[in-house]
This record gives sequence, structure tokens and C-alpha cells, in this order.
Amino acid sequence: MHTLATVAVSSDQVPPSARTNVPSVLFVDQSGQLGGAEFSLMPLAATWGARREVLLLSDGPFRARLESLGVPVSLACEASVSGIRKDTLRLKWLGALPGIVRQVRAIARHAESFDVLFLNTQKALVLGALGKPLHRKRIVWYLHDVMSCEHFGPLQRLVVRWLTRYAVDHVIANSRASADALVALAHCAPEDVPVVHNGIDLEAFNSRHIFDIGALRRRLGLPENAYLAGLFGRLAPWKGQHIALEALARVADLHLVLVGSAMFGEDDYEKALHEQAARLGVEDRLIFAGFRDDMPAWMKAVDVILHTSTEPEPFGRVIVEGMAAGRPVIASAAGGVTEIVSHGRNGWLVQPANPVALAEAIETVRRAPEMAQDVANRARDDAAQRFSVDTYLNRMTSAIAGCAARAHDA
Ligand code: UDP
Repeated sequence: MHTLATVAVSSDQVPPSARTNVPSVLFVDQSGQLGGAEFSLMPLAATWGARREVLLLSDGPFRARLESLGVPVSLACEASVSGIRKDTLRLKWLGALPGIVRQVRAIARHAESFDVLFLNTQKALVLGALGKPLHRKRIVWYLHDVMSCEHFGPLQRLVVRWLTRYAVDHVIANSRASADALVALAHCAPEDVPVVHNGIDLEAFNSRHIFDIGALRRRLGLPENAYLAGLFGRLAPWKGQHIALEALARVADLHLVLVGSAMFGEDDYEKALHEQAARLGVEDRLIFAGFRDDMPAWMKAVDVILHTSTEPEPFGRVIVEGMAAGRPVIASAAGGVTEIVSHGRNGWLVQPANPVALAEAIETVRRAPEMAQDVANRARDDAAQRFSVDTYLNRMTSAIAGCAARAHDA
């Protein structure tokens, strides 16, 4: 792996489309669903200043979103490979071997006419990098995961370590937390894993123009006069919705809306959340909103935004979105979150998986609305300064173009 430290991130002011020498890129993503990695790929693929295509390894709403942005999309789906999940990896990969070989070949074939192969997810990394002897393209991997043993099994960590060392040309991490875990795993130099935080469409989340919160809540079917917390993100045990439910039971008259759905087979967890709500007697103060396309509206409609991940969050787009929406954010103090939120300055940090601490933080914010709004205003300014889409695009473009340029120099 070569260092990206020499790739300048100083040209933040140059729009990607105005750059010269932008390489053609095949972006590969394993998911047809809309998660953080996919949302971060959208503006990059949409504004890329040279020929580009997105190759998806599963079909789903992500494809339509990309196509609506004018991005050419192709599919290379293999049900046996899509069925492999982190927790079933050991059992399933052998049976999926023929599908794996077909996907490795398909990616390599697609990559032939591009300068750079940009791998945006774990499976894309494995399948794209394994095919390097076939396509011989420069590989950029955008790392969206904390590669710790809490998140990934030993086999997957071994494969990633090997590929990082021998097949990937450049890694870009979505947070220092993600970068540090990879450095520890692959024993590479920290400067070899530069960090580019996601950019958020700040204008879309700007709540300055919302004057009638009551009307907004009526439109969304939310309780008009209740003190309302919102938790945004897919339903999954490590996202900690169950911790929020326990906090809900501890805070009198608090209402909670969960926005997001079980996207990767976590239906049992969703069922368990309903059962937990019944057990705690909080059903009448809890709303399951499902997956929503209009996150800015939902965020602007709540009084406080919760983030409750029980494991280190690799980045946490929802936190920056909440900050951009000008709402107070209470987040789990682990992983990339601590690079975004500084406690008491632009939000509140609480110990992960601690419902008592979460309930206390909610009470603190509710008791002092003016102080909470001051903190939220500072958060909105921080989000604008540190997490704009322009900055993100320019840094990514510099990194990818730098990677391709070194191929020519070599
Ligand atoms: N999101 C959405 N609708 C939903 C739930 C989530 O559009 O109902 C979006 C959310 O706005 C954010 C992304 O999904 O941009 C989740 O990214 P994050 O980094 O928070 O979590 P990840 O999915 O990467 O674990």
C-alpha cells in the first residue's frame, strides 16, 4: 500500500468538475439498500468529472437513486454471495464459492475500461481486490467500518489484512476511528490511511426556515405538543434502539420516534423492540416510522436527537445531519462520534449502552432549552465548517486522482 499523505487535500476550493486529469472510475458497492456508505457515494458518483459507472452487487432502491442523479449503473448480483453476512461468514462462504468466482470475474471485466476501481464496502473490497491479477487496475478502498473483533470475525479480519497489504493501492477511511482500527489490524503506517469524513447536504438539513413545528409534526403524524426525541438509522442491535427504549421508560412524558427499518435481516430485532416496548409500558409514547426518504423533515420535527450505538460507530452521518438540522444531539461516546461531537460544546456524549446516562442527558437538555439551543447552534456552525459536501468531494477527488497519477508515474 502506498502513502496518500502526499496527496494534497489543499485544493478544497476547486470544484471536482473543474479539475483536469480526473481519472475514469468504476465505483463498486455491495448494497442496493440505502446506508451511510451508499449515501456518501451518491454525490461522489453524481459529480465525478470524468467517465464513471457504479457497479452494484445487489439490486435495491440505491440503484434508482443513482439513476435519478444521472449516474450509469450496472448490476452483478449473486444471491449466494449477497446471503453471506458477517455472522454467518464461516458457514456460508464455501457454498457460495462459484458465485464468488463469478462476481470476481464480473467486477474485473467491468473494471477493464476504467482507470481506477473504487471499492466502497467490505464485500466490494474482497471481490474487487481478489480480481486484481485479472484487471490490474489501481484500487482505492473507502473504508466505512471499524475493523475490530467486536464488529468482524477472525477470517474476515485476516482477509482484509492480507488484501490491504498486497492488493489495495490506497485506503481512505471515513474517520480516525476506522483508520486506527485498520492500522492496528494491517500494521500499516497511520499516514497510509488518511481520513476523509463524509460530507452532508447542509442546506437540506438547515432548519432556519421552519417556523411552524406544529404543522410539520401534523404532516408527519407526530404528537404536536409532546417533548419528542428522535432516533435515526436502521434497526439493528448494535445501533442500540433497545437502549433508547429503556431511557424512554425512565423519562416521564417523553415521546420517541424511531426512523429507519431493519435492512439486513434484522427483523427479529424489530420484533423484540415491539415486545420490549409492551413490557416497559411505553407503546403509547413510541412511534415506529420505518425508513423515510425525507430525513431533514423528520429531524427538524423533533426536540432532541439521540444516537445510541452500543459499538464504536465508524462515522455516524445521522449525528452530523442532526447537528446541521440545528437540533441538540446526544450521542454514544465511541468511535468516529468523538471526532464529531465535543461534550457540552456542540452536543452531549454519553457512555454507550447506558440507558441511565442517556435518560439523564435527555432530562438535562429538556430542563434547559435555551442552553440546549445554544449548543445546537454551535453544532450547526461546526457541521457547516467541517462536513460540507464540497470539502468532502474535493478531498475524495484529490485522493483518487492522486492514486491514478502515481500509476502513470510508476
Ligand atoms: N437514513 C435515511 N432514512 C432512514 C434512516 C436513515 O435516509 O429512515 C439515512 C441517514 O439520513 C444517514 C444514513 O441513512 O444518511 C445512515 O448513515 P449512518 O452513517 O448514520 O449509519 P450507517 O448506515 O452507515 O451505519
